[in-house]
Amino acid sequence: MSSGAPCVLRLTIFPVVFRRIFCYNYFINNLIFNFMFTLPNLPYERAALEPHMSAKTLDFHYGKHHQAYVDNLNKLLAGTELEKESLENIILKSANNAERTGIFNNAAQHFNHTFFWDCLRPAAKGSAPSEPVSAALSQSFGSLEMFYTEFKIAAASLFGSGWVWLVKDGEQLKILKTANGDNPIAHGLKPVFALDVWEHSYYLDYQNRRADFVEAVLQNLINWEFVAKNI
Ligand code: MN
Repeated sequence: MSSGAPCVLRLTIFPVVFRRIFCYNYFINNLIFNFMFTLPNLPYERAALEPHMSAKTLDFHYGKHHQAYVDNLNKLLAGTELEKESLENIILKSANNAERTGIFNNAAQHFNHTFFWDCLRPAAKGSAPSEPVSAALSQSFGSLEMFYTEFKIAAASLFGSGWVWLVKDGEQLKILKTANGDNPIAHGLKPVFALDVWEHSYYLDYQNRRADFVEAVLQNLINWEFVAKNI
């Protein structure tokens, strides 16, 4: 009778202790020895942004292009001194370094796309900024309409592949155009909102009509709650 309790105790407690030690080591080993970037989950279903951005566009843009940036980044980082750095540090330490152009392009594109997916949300939830965000945009651009106008001019005039950003420069909100994979954090600026104007971002849905794509995103898909957190 009296020997039953310790036996049950051993059976229940020891596996728990063992699991905790094992899992802790497994976690630490992964952090130290197997630091690989992975494609983050999209914050919505691939069809959730239709009709403004199709599931087919996200299949390619998220599933193929973004995945390729992540895979290329992992390959290029393997065995280098940047391998265990944070994504932001990798971008800062590879910017303007001719020997690390490939690492910079893929790291920046991984950052840019992850940020871009968070900037969007399904159209059904309404598209107006909250009063504080609207006031901040009006203060920097004159009015909310002026912000939209300036952003659309920047997107239309960006030659080739690149990004249009709303950034925070000190207390001022500004619009920034960057070419290819370049991004605000490489220039000491805080990203607030991003729009990918590479052709792969809109060609399946809009072909050559970049202005229509820009208009559709600005009017329907901006995740203003995410924007508010960045201001
Ligand atoms: Mn893209």
